[in-house]
Amino acid sequence: MSDVSVVSRAWLDKAPWLDASRQQVRDALAGDKLAHALLIHGQSGVGKAALAEWITQLVLCDQPGEEPCGVCQSCRFYLADTHPDIQRVGIPEGKKQIPVDDVREMITSLRLMSGRRGRKVAIIDPADAMNANGANALLKTLEEPPAGTLLILTVARLERLPPTVASRCSRVSVKTPSRADALTWLAQVDSTVDWNGPLALASGAPVAAMRLVSNGGALITEQMAELPAMLRRPDTDVIALAERSQAHFPAERLRWLEHWLCERIRRGLGIAVSDHNLASQPLPAEARKKHIQALYGLLDQTRLAQSALRGSANVTLLFETLYFTLARELEWLLAQQPRS
Ligand SMILES: [Zn+2]
Repeated sequence: MSDVSVVSRAWLDKAPWLDASRQQVRDALAGDKLAHALLIHGQSGVGKAALAEWITQLVLCDQPGEEPCGVCQSCRFYLADTHPDIQRVGIPEGKKQIPVDDVREMITSLRLMSGRRGRKVAIIDPADAMNANGANALLKTLEEPPAGTLLILTVARLERLPPTVASRCSRVSVKTPSRADALTWLAQVDSTVDWNGPLALASGAPVAAMRLVSNGGALITEQMAELPAMLRRPDTDVIALAERSQAHFPAERLRWLEHWLCERIRRGLGIAVSDHNLASQPLPAEARKKHIQALYGLLDQTRLAQSALRGSANVTLLFETLYFTLARELEWLLAQQPRS
């Protein structure tokens, strides 16, 4: 059942921020107007895969209502992960892209599948991980889908999907919930976790926050908070530290660093700091200029590493460069840090 576990599916099927999207699909189904291809668009970790699974189960259900019935033969096949009319394509482990052969294989299977009740579903998650060849292979199927086929694509960054693909799909947009709504929902899922840190690291996306915590990332905020002190210690092995950072939640670490640097910039400029509403004393003009320039330089490097993470650049090297620069500059940056 893809990487969405049954437990989180159960919770996500009740997630209030997905209500509008679910209703959009129900209405389309009721009016017999469901498009043959849906493009679920929303921030990474907001629940797109779970929504795709819910739609799949509903569309294939033998007695669908507002929800999949959960007891018919189709639902039983679905829940046992043995449904013959579902194809899923995703990024194979250890890869960054969906191989074109996987897309081609899915298309061939779709043509061969008869569908228990004339319906079959293929999920491509995330569709923006297809390369140009994969997208081209899919294009013909989007133009002339085999009868009874529903294609569901998920995408976090629309600009990475060829317009020829996106324009042939009906759009289902998922909005990121407000911080308060996300925290309420997460507390219902697990009240033993302090979700504030993980949700911030996950840029407000609740499923990403859950994934972070369940993968052992709950402590990243605490670990990263120690980074400046660690980098200032002469006995710290910066290369080993960079190596560990890129192997374990690199995106979240970079996001933490980005927040940290932005906060230092705000302090340097004498602007109120978000977490405690205290305006700090700005530095004298000359020192301030140098201070802010150095921080912006580090921020640029952090953002460079963030975009490199999405590509195929050497991320270890970027972390090393970033940490070495930080280590070199921290001493005077923190010495100059205006007290707040
Ligand atoms: Zn059913």
